[in-house]
Amino acid sequence: VFASRGSGRPRHFTPELDRLAHEEATVGAELRTALRDGQFRLVFQPIVELPHGRVVAVETLVRWEHPRLGTVSPAVFIPIAERNGLIVELGAWILREACREMVADPHSPERISVNVSPRQLAHPDLVRTIADTLTEFGLPAERLTIEVTETAVFDGGPAIEALHQLRALGIRIALDDFGTGHSSLTLLRTVPAQVLKVDKSFVDEITVGGQSAVIAGGLIEIANGLGMTAVAEGVETAGQAEVLYQLGYRLAQGYYFGRPAGTMPRTPTAALRP
Ligand code: C2E
Ligand code: MG
Ligand code: MG
Ligand code: MG
Repeated sequence: VFASRGSGRPRHFTPELDRLAHEEATVGAELRTALRDGQFRLVFQPIVELPHGRVVAVETLVRWEHPRLGTVSPAVFIPIAERNGLIVELGAWILREACREMVADPHSPERISVNVSPRQLAHPDLVRTIADTLTEFGLPAERLTIEVTETAVFDGGPAIEALHQLRALGIRIALDDFGTGHSSLTLLRTVPAQVLKVDKSFVDEITVGGQSAVIAGGLIEIANGLGMTAVAEGVETAGQAEVLYQLGYRLAQGYYFGRPAGTMPRTPTAALRP
């Protein structure tokens, strides 16, 4: 497309769009191999209670140990796995490994969160896969939280129905990155979620009386009013944690309390007060 513009110009270079499509196909194929060869691993990040920092839950995050590129971020490969469909198989593997590690570790926290992407949620086998995995490892449904984003539930219908079924099993539903989509408040009426994960963007610039604090404060009022639990995401400083605590937040997650790590967190990593 781009190569054909201008008469005297060489045409032998690959147009950008073709190159990107090719790269996506290549990475997509590599992802399949990676799953087969065991190149994925899980890390766990603590979710803590404020103000003391007791670890009450962990969020499962996947990493790709690429043989040449090193550790690849899920922000890069999850969207590709989502588009080529591998996310269904990869997601099932992630859930199994997460459950396996939860029951293998006698000091594991009360709850574990696993992210579920739109295509997984739309898949007709999701509920059965999750129920079977819990049974296989003997993990009580009450200890599992499924994190979904607005994009996953935006289509409504089958995705919402799947969430109702999961909830009926005793699994908790968390709305991830809340406040960044286009229909956040509407979703609160249609999605059977018990947990609201307030997006990092509202935490980043939080200062007493500032705009982000007003929004973060409004969101916790909404969560409390609806009988939901709010979690503040991406807390990096003691100052942010302090403002959030004053606004009424009792749960937080972020580098300040603990980075994602290969072993389950068990001790408080930081606290507002000794
Ligand atoms: P998310 O579910 O919102 O996960 C939180 C992300 O924020 C993680 O990035 C985490 O490492 C990062 N984070 C946590 N605290 C802080 C902080 O204080 N500062 C900063 N700068 N970042 C913080 P990660 O692991 O790169 O994951 C990115 C996204 O990829 C996740 O966002 C989630 O949407 C997706 N993802 C990760 N693991 C999985 C998975 O197993 N399955 C699916 N479907 N998606 C996943
Ligand atoms: Mg998440
Ligand atoms: Mg999140
Ligand atoms: Mg996020």
